Amino acid sequence: MFKQIELNYNFNALEPHIDELTMVTHYSKHHAAYTNNLNAALEKAPELSHSSIEDLLKSLADIADEALRAAIRNNGGGYYNHNLYFATLEPGGNSEPKGELADRIIEEFGDYSSLKEKLAAAGATRFGSGWAWLSANKKGDLKVSSSPNQDNPLMDQDEAWVPILGIDVWEHAYYLKYKNLRADYIKAFLELVNWDVVSDNYNKVKE
Ligand code: MN
Repeated sequence: MFKQIELNYNFNALEPHIDELTMVTHYSKHHAAYTNNLNAALEKAPELSHSSIEDLLKSLADIADEALRAAIRNNGGGYYNHNLYFATLEPGGNSEPKGELADRIIEEFGDYSSLKEKLAAAGATRFGSGWAWLSANKKGDLKVSSSPNQDNPLMDQDEAWVPILGIDVWEHAYYLKYKNLRADYIKAFLELVNWDVVSDNYNKVKE
């Protein structure tokens, strides 16, 4: 049974950047539904029930049953992506990347502002629902990308990127407060990032 991560902040703690009703709905309805639907799908597939979520998402192609594969892609993706999303938010944010991650950001993107611009552009240009990502690989390289629906970089069979920060650009993540202004929401999201958590994620991926 997969469980949603526990939030270590209150639903209203991200105000005014992300409003309380959006947080309640996002966590208690959307994320809960992905989690429940993933668990329900796995109940019918006991052979998969001991796999980690990462392994499930990396080996979708091995699932022969098309309906089961779609259920795990959509709901397993939704489960994993939102765990990452909620874990990297922090009331008031946490200034800027530090340590090795900060060094690598400077190497690859020039500076932190340039990384933020790339992430914002990836989220703003994703048509329809999806995510913008900062991912790392075992060598410690970084990449900015975006994906549709609840897909994520783990699902790219030929690559070995692991997301370390994800910006949810589905309308449910921002529409109550920001309406059509996705770019404003992305800017606000980037004010709330807990870079200590992102650094931990980076250090776990890097060998
Ligand atoms: Mn969402």
